[in-house]
Amino acid sequence: MRGFFTQLAAVFALAIAACPVPALADDQGGQWSIAIHGGAGTIARENMSAEAEAEYRAGLQVALDAGAKVLSEGGTAMDAVEAVILILEDDPKFNAGRGAVYTWEGGHELDASIMDGRDRDAGAVAGVTNVRNPILLARKVMTDSPHVMLSGEGAETFAAEQGLDLVPGEFFDTESRREALERMKADKLSAIDVDIKFGTVGAVALDTHGNLAAGTSTGGMTGKRWNRIGDAPVIGAGTYADNRSCAVSATGWGEYFIRVGVAHEICTRLRHRFDMDVVVARVTTPVDRDGNPEYFVHASEMMLEESAVQEEADAVMAEVKELGGDGGIILVTPEGHALYSFNTSGMYRGRATSEGVNEVAIYGDE
Ligand code: ASP
Repeated sequence: MRGFFTQLAAVFALAIAACPVPALADDQGGQWSIAIHGGAGTIARENMSAEAEAEYRAGLQVALDAGAKVLSEGGTAMDAVEAVILILEDDPKFNAGRGAVYTWEGGHELDASIMDGRDRDAGAVAGVTNVRNPILLARKVMTDSPHVMLSGEGAETFAAEQGLDLVPGEFFDTESRREALERMKADKLSAIDVDIKFGTVGAVALDTHGNLAAGTSTGGMTGKRWNRIGDAPVIGAGTYADNRSCAVSATGWGEYFIRVGVAHEICTRLRHRFDMDVVVARVTTPVDRDGNPEYFVHASEMMLEESAVQEEADAVMAEVKELGGDGGIILVTPEGHALYSFNTSGMYRGRATSEGVNEVAIYGDE
């Protein structure tokens, strides 16, 4: 029995020694990765014209290429995330910036957030009505205010002080989103029925310096009332980045993503899984005649397999489903894995890596 406790104590000691996972070295051989999304939902081939499909793919590709260019030229993950989201915010097909959905009262309230995995610094804004690119404001909150999250009029005053591009509310009007609000009211539908797909946009990146970043921007859900705020600006729910584990951006039914704390939950699971893998490797290292390990396993020698990362992300999305929510996430890891997990029939998405991956996809079977 005493032996058992000694062994247990050794495992705990090793667990503590394994944590935290050291940040990657400053130069990691030019390796970079990026994943982007433009919303998940009931997206089926039979409901999509060839023309609309081509437009979505082209819109995603332009944004993906912009992010990949930043990274391949040695730029930062933060800049890559911002570059992608700026393009998608200005594209009226997506529910962020220009194409934001309508509130119940017929206006637009925009939410966004961005997070730097180096030091977990973050900025977020909620319920802004006149800021052309909320992702720029979120980044300004991070870099130029002592706060993490600003909302409503105060956030707009800060945007004006920072010299950001302000626009009248009508700038965000689009015919298809107006029609969605009218249909919702006429047929007494829920936001899910009427939206069919969530059009929030997001990006996650690993840069060549080994740093991670994540960002998300949205108009929220059609017909939202009472200054409702979704998961997109909530650090830990819709957005999270931590160099020790991963960067995540989410899209879906925000209330469920907040309740599960999706983005943080995935990162935490990956961090603990990695730590446990290190512990297991150490306790299973062959020992010499004196009972000492033949060599010391260093955390930097180890990496999480892509299948393990996918498993953890899928498990968290299954939790969302169990509670009744749907949507999806994109994720990158310090090892360069770039992947998606969604419990809807489709998700507008794309990924590119320094290893030559470059793809955009829409349907679940792609
Ligand atoms: N997650 C967003 C929200 O709940 C909606 C979306 O993904 O489109 O506000």
